[in-house]
Amino acid sequence: MRLTILGSGTSFGVPQVGCECAVCRSEDPRDRRTRVSAVVETGGPGEAGVTRLLIDTPPELRLQLTGARIGSVDAVLYTHDHADHIMGIDDLRAMSVRFGRLPVYGPPDTLERLAQRFSYIFDEEPPPPGTPKPELATVPLKPGQAVTIAGMRVLPIPFEHGSLTVYGYRIGDLAYLTDVKSVPPAAMEHLKGLKLLVLNALLDRPHPTHLSIGEAIDTARAIGAERSLFTHLTHKQSHLDLSRRLPHGIEPAYDGLSISF
Ligand SMILES: [Zn+2]
Ligand SMILES: [Zn+2]
Ligand SMILES: [Zn+2]
Repeated sequence: MRLTILGSGTSFGVPQVGCECAVCRSEDPRDRRTRVSAVVETGGPGEAGVTRLLIDTPPELRLQLTGARIGSVDAVLYTHDHADHIMGIDDLRAMSVRFGRLPVYGPPDTLERLAQRFSYIFDEEPPPPGTPKPELATVPLKPGQAVTIAGMRVLPIPFEHGSLTVYGYRIGDLAYLTDVKSVPPAAMEHLKGLKLLVLNALLDRPHPTHLSIGEAIDTARAIGAERSLFTHLTHKQSHLDLSRRLPHGIEPAYDGLSISF
């Protein structure tokens, strides 16, 4: 299997509009962070019969998919419906016009709110001729109940994110957890024996709805994956500084990072 990080930035993205800090002006391409998203695929690059799951549809989705040369996905997994995770939903149109209706999975309330916010997509009204809209089929997932999607076993795990419940996903030996505030013992049970963990890490100071960097380090150590990547990063950390600070086995994700596991 293979994981590609499409976006590794917090909701503002990096560089942040109007900011002239050192990280926002950095020449290191790893300091350019679009909003968080990832693709998980079966097999190796270029192999026949590869299937792909896209996690979230952030505002830069078109640029992320074209940049990673990904022309099709088999399904979308939503973690939750905050703007930084959903506002690229219309870019799914480019795939549904070519390959037909795309299944989108996620927490039931997230899918309900998506249908309200993007009523033009989810109503039964056919669009005017020659003006396609994304063709999507929502499939609510029950927390803790594994399903097989595009040949991959996907386990949705619920986490607290302020007043919202977000889903993290275990997909084979990978777990992708973003926008979580803590990893409770019940979730720990589902996170044993991971080869690869993706975990959100926001700031050095505590945050009401996200793991801080220190909390994320403790959490990643407790989970004990062979390799852990931090995502949802802000302009307060450069890639280089953060990679030097993180303990062995934990590293900052960056846009375009692709790992076979
Ligand atoms: Zn977010
Ligand atoms: Zn900045
Ligand atoms: Zn969020």
